Amino acid sequence: MKNYDEFAEAELQKLIPLQEKFKQEYDLDSFANWFYESDASILRLYNDDEDEIFFKYIPIGSYSLSSETWMWSWFNNSSAESNKSETLKIKQFGKEHNYKKLIDGTFASDKYDGWEFLATGLSILGGIGVYKVNSENLENYFLLTEIIEDKSSEEIRKIKQKIVDCENHGLGRPAFVCQHLNRETPNGFKEAFETSLGMELDEDDDFQAWCDDCEKVRSENKGWNDETMEFAKIKLVCEECYFDLKEFNQK
Ligand SMILES: [Zn+2]
Ligand SMILES: [Zn+2]
Repeated sequence: MKNYDEFAEAELQKLIPLQEKFKQEYDLDSFANWFYESDASILRLYNDDEDEIFFKYIPIGSYSLSSETWMWSWFNNSSAESNKSETLKIKQFGKEHNYKKLIDGTFASDKYDGWEFLATGLSILGGIGVYKVNSENLENYFLLTEIIEDKSSEEIRKIKQKIVDCENHGLGRPAFVCQHLNRETPNGFKEAFETSLGMELDEDDDFQAWCDDCEKVRSENKGWNDETMEFAKIKLVCEECYFDLKEFNQK
């Protein structure tokens, strides 16, 4: 039987040409941005609203640059993807072959292990390619299982609703404010519900705020209707902009 290093090296050699072909097929290097929605296990690569591509993924694991440790997604309580349990098949395979790195949930590691684990995941679970997303101190290793062709699906629509690309703050959650809220003159700040930065939102809730003038028109009209909406001319901002506006406009 092969020892782990031999096994992993062979897996890696299988992955390299396959990944090269995969990258070319979908022109992956042409996308400047990524976003993933962990509840749905969907990765979006994009440049703008027109130029984008969606994949289903299985999270294999993550590498922490600060603690220099690997963590398998089945071991990671903060991974929200329900399909992370698929990676237990890799652990099972590890047990059968006595490959310790495939069995332990987390351990001291380096940046090369992750690629070997992706290669192993691809062999065991199947898929079309792999992808690594880097956030500040964490590298997430994804096994891509299929491309999502139907961009008009409910699933995709929901994902696109959840992000806004702000000039000042980058990618963030969307928020809605009336046209009168700015950072020059405080105009009051009325909200649909009590909010705080980073709070969890229910599926149907959005950050929404309007000024004192809008509130006046709204109460005269007994709520939001075509006329009050026309007066408010609600605009889309990012969550951080929303809370900047909140701080400045509250009287
Ligand atoms: Zn207003
Ligand atoms: Zn912003």
